[in-house]
Amino acid sequence: MEDCLFCKIVKKEIPTQIIYEDERTLVFKDIDPQAPIHYLIVPKQHFADVTNVPAGNDIVSHIFTVAVKMAIREGVSDEGFRVVNNCGELGGQSVEHLHFHFLAGRQMLWPPG
Ligand code: AMP
Ligand code: ZN
Repeated sequence: MEDCLFCKIVKKEIPTQIIYEDERTLVFKDIDPQAPIHYLIVPKQHFADVTNVPAGNDIVSHIFTVAVKMAIREGVSDEGFRVVNNCGELGGQSVEHLHFHFLAGRQMLWPPG
């Protein structure tokens, strides 16, 4: 996807603060952090949102495995953290490349607003 912001970040055409990378995912700091720790976990393959992930594809499961890895690495697996996926207009999604927010380091609130 040539015009996709996160595809460009995955291809390292746009600089970001990369936290972690494996064959299927890239984790980088959110440019507008909403918590002391705010990372985006992004599949390297382009999916517009979670509804576009084919049945049987385990990328979402893999992303949660990466999220737990980040939690352990940041030392927040015991105190807690939040993983968020915004999907579509009413879901508050602003970048149309599947991504999960990893948030930690403060008390999260509910409802999220
Ligand atoms: P969402 O609103 O769920 O689609 O999340 C998109 C997120 O991408 C927002 O939290 C933005 O702050 C973040 N974002 C947008 N552009 C960049 C960028 N160039 N580098 C890092 N994060 C970005
Ligand atoms: Zn993309």
